[in-house]
Amino acid sequence: MKTLVIHHDDCLRHDPGPRHAERAERIGAVLKAVSGVPGIELLPAPKATPEQLQRVHPADYWERLCSLEPEPNPAVGPASERVALDPDTWLSPGSLNAALRGSGAACFAVDQIYAGRARNAFCVTRPPGHHAGAASAMGFCLLNHVAVAARHAQAGHGARRVAILDFDVHHGNGTQAIFENDAQVLYVSSHQVPLYPGTGFAAETGCGNVLNLPLAPGSGSADFRRAWLQRGLPELERFAPDLVIVSAGFDAHQRDPLAQLELQDADYAWITAEIRALAEAACGGRLVSVLEGGYDLDALASASAAHVQALIA
Ligand SMILES: [Zn+2]
Repeated sequence: MKTLVIHHDDCLRHDPGPRHAERAERIGAVLKAVSGVPGIELLPAPKATPEQLQRVHPADYWERLCSLEPEPNPAVGPASERVALDPDTWLSPGSLNAALRGSGAACFAVDQIYAGRARNAFCVTRPPGHHAGAASAMGFCLLNHVAVAARHAQAGHGARRVAILDFDVHHGNGTQAIFENDAQVLYVSSHQVPLYPGTGFAAETGCGNVLNLPLAPGSGSADFRRAWLQRGLPELERFAPDLVIVSAGFDAHQRDPLAQLELQDADYAWITAEIRALAEAACGGRLVSVLEGGYDLDALASASAAHVQALIA
């Protein structure tokens, strides 16, 4: 059984500005690192359908984004073709197609895995999604791809219980907000505290379905593995999911410029192997991973390659 790597060139066209950390080169770095891994199949991402989006994002939110997205205009400079939704989050011509490919990739991955055509998948798309709420763009994110995929698995494939695991260095406040009253979806996140977006404390537990594993600045491999071994992974096992979705951010890497955790490539291989083993025990290995952050191109490349190798192994 194969591991799919799902991508689309539309994801390169979202342009949040020349000095923005979340840049198109991230995708090239990941694809270059993972496309030579034996056992993967590279497939193009479709766009998410309105039906898929609206299970999470209200139609009027999407229409507002569409009304704000600038038209391509070769007569003006690129800077004047961008619209700020907040100080970090921008719309350029092409941003919404990029975001649609991100949510579409995650739904397509769910379809392929439920059809038995792949064991698991890694969606190499941008902009990322885990800060996006149902009706709020935030923190580089426009659409919450893992949330759209979770609802798609429930509505389209009969998944009852979906676990979303998030090892991005930032707390996935959007994902938590979308599911915090839904006991059928588990959300477990390790992240640095204090750090943007200022949420993700251990006291935030949703309806008993949210487990936050805050890590102090300077935490490294031992702290990360202890948190997942003692809390996160047992919670995943207890939940007995029908599908596991991973918000795979690589910005807790020691080299990343946006945060102060000290993870190494081997930690990404380790957490991926642990999650994959629990997915195999709980749900036939059904696992969809979606790229979130990761802003040092070399670290992003090597850590995502370690992630994909552990998905295949
Ligand atoms: Zn992040």
